[in-house]
Amino acid sequence: MQRIAVEELTGLVTALFSAKGASHGEAQDVAASLVGANLTGHDSHGVVRVPRYLDWIDDGTLRPGRELDLVTDGGVFVLADGGHGFGQTLGRRIVDLGIDRASTHGVAITALRRSGHIGRIGEWAERAAAADLVSIHCVNVHGSVLVAPFGAREKRFSTAPFAVGVPQPDAPPLILDFATSLVAEGKVLNAFKGGKALPADCIIATDGQLTDDPCAFYGTTDRSVVPVTAKAPGALVAMGLHKGSGLAFMMELLGGALTGGGTCGPDKTPVANGMLSIYLDPHRLDPANDFHGEVARFVAWVRGAAPRPGIDEVLVPGDAERRLRLERTAEGVPLPVEVWRGLQNAAQRLGVR
Ligand code: NAD
Repeated sequence: MQRIAVEELTGLVTALFSAKGASHGEAQDVAASLVGANLTGHDSHGVVRVPRYLDWIDDGTLRPGRELDLVTDGGVFVLADGGHGFGQTLGRRIVDLGIDRASTHGVAITALRRSGHIGRIGEWAERAAAADLVSIHCVNVHGSVLVAPFGAREKRFSTAPFAVGVPQPDAPPLILDFATSLVAEGKVLNAFKGGKALPADCIIATDGQLTDDPCAFYGTTDRSVVPVTAKAPGALVAMGLHKGSGLAFMMELLGGALTGGGTCGPDKTPVANGMLSIYLDPHRLDPANDFHGEVARFVAWVRGAAPRPGIDEVLVPGDAERRLRLERTAEGVPLPVEVWRGLQNAAQRLGVR
């Protein structure tokens, strides 16, 4: 592992996407989101993705410069097509649209389909929370069949993430954000590249046995390659037994079928995110309700629960990310040597720096 300063890392990633045809502003947004994922500890959705994004631009899976194409505008609800643009650009646009509509109506629903990889979903819940809105985000990944349903050894779901954000006026927002697989695929990629080891039994090998070996998922032990996820012979285990598997199932329907982006069935390409989001202004729902006061009291009560042996303290959603962001902003982003080398090789290839 080596620590890279935030400005250096952001500058390099910005330069790489600029060299690939993104405008400077778009490249900066993509870089800020990817480095932001590293800062919050979600290395799976950080700069480890850059080589894959560069390949995707080459093969047309990802198209710089795309803006939202509004398919349906019902005022309180909108549906937009992303045309396989950068998810980091489309995510900002669609959430800002949801915030705008919720400020008019008190509530809003946005549906985004055919978006390029939209990254850490918590970023979008944080953006809505900064506008004092509660938000819920249901996401699927069309063209990325990775997760076995409960009881199956074969893959049927994407890692279909789910996020909820609750703002707090006098404290940081509460942000729940996770993949519905036991681990996100990016965490497998990160472990494959020499990063943090995986938890036990999060992968199903081709013989149906459970393992934590990322090589059993990708079907290769050559850690210098960028593994093609679509060709991975292994499967990821769904989180939370039958309940998490059911949540993943519903994310496919809400993020995929309802947005029109499509569920992640067989022979579907390219890889694209669908995201159904709900935004709600708690003050408009019931102006007399002391929502924020109740949230603050509940948070304090939960934090006050006595920890089990071996656990330092009880955390609430968003704590872990916020603490790491503070630490990594000050100390730099820890990257596996292989990931840093991959970025530098790309820079050399593209004549950047
Ligand atoms: P995870 O398993 O690290 O869980 C994160 C959640 O758990 C956060 O809400 C965090 O605050 C909370 N948390 C962490 N430690 C805690 C503790 N000790 N006590 C209480 N709460 C705690 O997340 P993940 O499943 O690995 O997901 C990683 C990222 O991948 C997410 O940002 C997700 O949005 C993203 N993702 C994106 C896609 C996509 O297609 N764009 C697909 C899958 C996942």
